[in-house]
Amino acid sequence: MTETLTRTSSASPLADDVRAALEACGVDLTAVGGDSTVASPITGEPLVGTRLDSTDAIDAAVGRAAAAFPAWRDTPAPLRGQVVKRWGELLTEHKQHLATLVTAEVGKTPSEALGEVQEMIDIADLAVGQSRQLFGKTMPSERPGHRLQEVWHPLGVVGVISAFNFPVAVYAWNTALALVCGDTVVWKPADVTRLSAIAVDALLARAVAESGAPEGIHQLLLTDADGSKRMVADRRVALVSATGSVRMGREVGPVVAERFGRTLLELGGNNGAIIAPSADLDLALRGVVFAAAGTAGQRCTTLRRLFVHSSVADQLTKRVVAAYETLAVGDPRTEGVLVGPLVNRRSFEAQQAALAAAQEQGGTVLVGGDRELADEHPDAYYVRPAVVSMPSQTPIVHEETFAPILYVMTYDDLDVVVAEHNAVPQGLSSAIFTSDQAEAERFLSAAGSDCGIANVNIGTSGAEIGGAFGGEKETGGGRESGSDAWKAYMRPSTQTINYSGQLPLAQGVTFI
Ligand code: NAD
Repeated sequence: MTETLTRTSSASPLADDVRAALEACGVDLTAVGGDSTVASPITGEPLVGTRLDSTDAIDAAVGRAAAAFPAWRDTPAPLRGQVVKRWGELLTEHKQHLATLVTAEVGKTPSEALGEVQEMIDIADLAVGQSRQLFGKTMPSERPGHRLQEVWHPLGVVGVISAFNFPVAVYAWNTALALVCGDTVVWKPADVTRLSAIAVDALLARAVAESGAPEGIHQLLLTDADGSKRMVADRRVALVSATGSVRMGREVGPVVAERFGRTLLELGGNNGAIIAPSADLDLALRGVVFAAAGTAGQRCTTLRRLFVHSSVADQLTKRVVAAYETLAVGDPRTEGVLVGPLVNRRSFEAQQAALAAAQEQGGTVLVGGDRELADEHPDAYYVRPAVVSMPSQTPIVHEETFAPILYVMTYDDLDVVVAEHNAVPQGLSSAIFTSDQAEAERFLSAAGSDCGIANVNIGTSGAEIGGAFGGEKETGGGRESGSDAWKAYMRPSTQTINYSGQLPLAQGVTFI
């Protein structure tokens, strides 16, 4: 095992950076190291190898989380919050180390990787406050001398499955809240982002140890989709919070439903923005380019469909194309680069297939789509983000291709374009750029966007943690992060207390 680590060390400077970041986060490489390596999307070079957990080890991890639950449940919520507070401090201290790992494993630019870690810190802050605000309600009883109340109790073990493109933030959204709610957590990170998961878990282990909390409250599974399926089927897991593709959600949902467990599904998006005639086009341009090309089109909230009013379509489209032509694509660690690599060859092939389908369906590629830097990095996949003019709604526009392709369509009537915007199976994020308040309100109304997120004069991506995050239809219906999302990690207990000394029945029923 140590040999594997040493060999990788001499061959790969990127792996050396990764190893240093892991050690700085307190990771014991001899405990987690092994032969399962993944390639960095930046260069294609292998990073530090990890072990893979056996099915027995997966079962044992769920068992440890289940065994830790009673003591954790009985720990007062504000004290549970103190563990998350300490975790947040450690995340802050190691922000740069974690960002280094995210960049190495996912290919995010340092700014975006740091932003992702900041999101963890932000949710830790929110969860600490939440730990004193797990409010229930008191309702008026229809019976004299009775009190009716709702109290929130922890659920048990929460299984968190995360996707590669937000390797650490989404875990923190779930875990910071689940822990203050009194649940214990088992985490199955994406196969290609195990190293950042190991570091984040090590920091949580330190926070737990320093706070004297039960060790078993957080468990990390180093496994693949098969190991993940084992955790999903385990009846001891009360809630499965799964982030990833619609395909994955279709598999996870029925398995958990069959055993009457709960799911919180955060699945694919196919996000649209409408550019109205009154839009500030400078603002719209920046919003569109960040949302569509940022993170190389690999966000669940990436802008994929742009509907531009015909009166401004030529003007805006030309400006988007010009901006795309000058976007710096390359090694995300290089100063000035805005678009890093696709995660792997499969993503590149999916992008090429979608572009071919779009052209067959009447689309015209206005810019991008080609592979770049192939000579320099034969094992990495860099592409110039593509803009494709589409004549109308076609089948390919209804699909999420997890790569930077922006389909541009024109419209003349707001009601018609809102219907077109809503005509896809997914329902995550949406936006309108307009200076007309009535138009904005129509978009935000129940008859407007059918998505979980609806924005005015900002793009579809880059949500803050204070609002609930999630989407409708095939996006899965889950809500995470701020607002009332904490309730997904608890169960309401409705309680009636009778202090009347009589036994009146509800609805005026008489019995004995
Ligand atoms: P993916 O579905 O391939 O994998 C996601 C996770 O699920 C991984 O950890 C994987 O190992 C696991 N998994 C896969 N099949 C499984 C199964 N049958 N049972 C249990 N676990 C299984 O997704 P990805 O390629 O890692 O991520 C990209 C996708 O995730 C995109 O569709 C994107 O839109 C979506 N996503 C959604 C959100 C959101 O909040 N809605 C956030 C991030 C990513």
